[in-house]
Amino acid sequence: MRLVTFDDGRGARVGVLDSADRVRDLAASEPGLPRDMLGLIALGFGAIPAGAADRAPVAENARLLAPIPRPPKNVFCVGKNYHEHAKEFAGSGFDGGAKDVVPPYPVVFSKPHTAISAPGDAIPFDNDPTGGLDYEGELAIVIGRGGRRITRERALAHVFGYTLVNDVTARHLQKRHSQWVLGKGIDGFCPMGPAILTADEVPDPRALVLTTHVNGEPRQAAPVGDLIFDIPALIEAISAGITLEPGDVIATGTPAGVGIGFDPPRFLQRGDVVRIGVREIGVLENTVR
Ligand code: MG
Repeated sequence: MRLVTFDDGRGARVGVLDSADRVRDLAASEPGLPRDMLGLIALGFGAIPAGAADRAPVAENARLLAPIPRPPKNVFCVGKNYHEHAKEFAGSGFDGGAKDVVPPYPVVFSKPHTAISAPGDAIPFDNDPTGGLDYEGELAIVIGRGGRRITRERALAHVFGYTLVNDVTARHLQKRHSQWVLGKGIDGFCPMGPAILTADEVPDPRALVLTTHVNGEPRQAAPVGDLIFDIPALIEAISAGITLEPGDVIATGTPAGVGIGFDPPRFLQRGDVVRIGVREIGVLENTVR
């Protein structure tokens, strides 16, 4: 099931994206379910009755919001988690701090919830005053059952589902400050969506293939199986000391093909359309304005 958060002028609530990409109003057909995504995640997708998605009426004039507009914590992100991207980043001259091309342990940082934006929202060009705007298409994990010290063997049982994130980055700020929060945590620099594909429909997340297009031109394409630190490893590493809660989001890293992977770098300009997709999840499209 592809779960969305939408608003049709009658308040934000949870819906289902059907196979024709129409939003179906889950609250209308299942009034006993929570109307917000965090409430639903806390119950688990098993709380959604069989056939509910088919019974739900199509919501007219639905506008998608980020599926989780405000997670319990900052959005966790992972840097340099695909081999080819780690190499392109090291060779770009924009890696301000690290000495290792491929890190020996996961590189984890976070983006505040104020960075989160919806499918279709503008990527705010003026919020990077240094002119180094770049995209990073990423698969993101949505935590279901919370926990601390989650082992890799148990990790996938804590996953509620999967969504997409654009880890938009101000490259000069990322380099200048020798850490990544200020260059990546900027307002509007975390488009998320369009939907959360529930984990029961993803027998093996490694088989998902992530693609990014800019103005229709293919830029990134990689299976999630290419991750250096896989999804269980990321959950184990983060939860080793930090309690994960239902609805926490972990963006898993971006493959090769970002703007700074080109020589000279191909930074985003006003009007550029960034389209991130995983066939089973859908498309996250945002335009730079
Ligand atoms: Mg990233």
